[in-house]
Amino acid sequence: MKNKKVYNNVLDLIGETPLIKLNKLTSNFEGDFFAKVEAFNPGHSSKDRIALHIIEEAERQGILTPGDTIIETTSGNTGFSIAMVSIIKGYECILAVSSKSSADKIDMLKSMGAHVYVCPAHVSADDQRSYYQVAKRLHSEIKGSVYINQYFNQLNIDAHYKSTGPEIWEQTEGKITHLVACSGTGGTISGTAKYLKEQNPDIKVIGVDAYGSVLKKYHETKEFDEKEIYPYRIEGLGKNLIPTATDFDIIDAFVKVTDEESAHTAREISSKEGLFVGYTSGAAMQALKQLNEEGEFKSTDRVVVIFPDHGSRYMSKIYNDKWMQAQGFFDSEHSTIEEIQYI
Ligand code: PMP
Repeated sequence: MKNKKVYNNVLDLIGETPLIKLNKLTSNFEGDFFAKVEAFNPGHSSKDRIALHIIEEAERQGILTPGDTIIETTSGNTGFSIAMVSIIKGYECILAVSSKSSADKIDMLKSMGAHVYVCPAHVSADDQRSYYQVAKRLHSEIKGSVYINQYFNQLNIDAHYKSTGPEIWEQTEGKITHLVACSGTGGTISGTAKYLKEQNPDIKVIGVDAYGSVLKKYHETKEFDEKEIYPYRIEGLGKNLIPTATDFDIIDAFVKVTDEESAHTAREISSKEGLFVGYTSGAAMQALKQLNEEGEFKSTDRVVVIFPDHGSRYMSKIYNDKWMQAQGFFDSEHSTIEEIQYI
């Protein structure tokens, strides 16, 4: 009989996500491979952990009291998680999002009680109309507000140091040899790696970055190279600035992955392992494939890869054949329309 416990509210279900063995996708790889499936959080992503931790830390410090306001610049997973925590704890939630965000995402955040400010996408970060500046202004104007600021908040790292790291150590009975995780804010990889390396400094930590992002180059040269920056499609992975929520010294290496291979690999995880995961899970798995081809793993290795979120948020993207075709991700042979056979 699975878990029959009764929970006080949805927040009690955050964390303690399962570690699931990958079987089909890694059948010819050396070693054993396990996915930490963060879609099992109630908000369907790893961002539940940071939303809860940052908000509860502000409560402990007496910064937040019920009725106060929580502000962030995101239309993605973090926004959803903050909205969910705010509902339960009785806070106002303001999210400043870019006008590039899909109507579906904005509706989803509104349905979770968030006040959404849609800000023009094509203005620079220091323009007063940008979502960064709008969030900053609201934070300074609204008394008793907290700005989550996930890219520059050390509590983002701390959340994973206190939860994701210990969970993986326990779930692998201390036998983990490699951690492979996407880096966006860097909170997941940095916090998880910090805990794991404190237990065993030999664990190898590999970050996953996107082509078009500066993280890998910065890790290797400690220089911010603007030439690395160009548009890409994967959301939540890589960055065009250096987040202080990333501890670059704890990461041993970065691997870059393409939009196209990551999209196909996400679809493969769903269709072969039965795990309906998001775009960055495909990116992390794609990095694992590349590492395997480079001979990174041996038969005794136990590798953990983090799958950050659920596939349902990507129905109009990687799980939509027309979108895949429009990106040029299908070859001309691929038929996107099921043929109806009449008998
Ligand atoms: N995947 C998705 C879907 C995300 O939203 C994020 C967060 N930007 C990440 C991966 C990366 O996690 P982190 O920010 O902790 O590096």
